Amino acid sequence: MNQLEYKRHIDAIIEKIEAARIKVSEHHIVKIVAVSKYSDTEAIKRLYEIGQRAFGENRVQDLIAKQEVLDELPLEWHYIGNLQRNKLNALIKADPFLFQSLDTVELANALQRRLLDRDTTMDCLLQINSANEATKAGVAPEKAKDTYAYIRENCPNINLKGVMSIGAHTDDQDVIKKSFETTYKIYEELDNATICSMGMSSDFELAISCGSNMLRLGSIMFPGDRQAV
Ligand SMILES: *Cc1c(COP(=O)(O)O)cnc(C)c1O
Repeated sequence: MNQLEYKRHIDAIIEKIEAARIKVSEHHIVKIVAVSKYSDTEAIKRLYEIGQRAFGENRVQDLIAKQEVLDELPLEWHYIGNLQRNKLNALIKADPFLFQSLDTVELANALQRRLLDRDTTMDCLLQINSANEATKAGVAPEKAKDTYAYIRENCPNINLKGVMSIGAHTDDQDVIKKSFETTYKIYEELDNATICSMGMSSDFELAISCGSNMLRLGSIMFPGDRQAV
């Protein structure tokens, strides 16, 4: 794809997002985070030139390496991956715009201690395992509200902004929809939550119809790059 074809491809995705969000409400704004985990810095630059500013990575080492190379561009970096405890300091140093995958109380407590030590804060989302899948990270739906309240009370250096969830891993649209509805219901009942991050390349229109206001789009935004397995 040359740059003009690529721009048309991205425009077509944006048109789909526009149509889906307007069905919800003219006032329903949806943000795109381009997940660049399988893409190199040249591909990120190419998408930046079309107008994309927010990018997501799922490994701290990759986040830092790409931040360094693209230092001169005004990009907004999101961290969306599982985080090992020994990578906490590196994540704080990388200072993401939003850490979307905070997924246990233990991780929140460890992050709180390190943020306090460094006298800094971090905006985060609580990841919810809305389909209760053994292979997936995240807080169980029935524990999500209590966990959210616990972090808000006990981790003053963590600014919880809402929730993140990955749609159920199935081709059954009804099951995927149910998982999005579960996440959205929790989101609606939280205090001060403004971000409901759900929807990926294969299910973003469904996610928007269920109330998502932040999409994490990987393969569809970087056609031709290595795909998720
Ligand atoms: C890889 C990834 C995405 C993007 O997946 P695509 O299907 O390529 O759009 C979104 N969210 C998370 C947490 C991911 O790890």
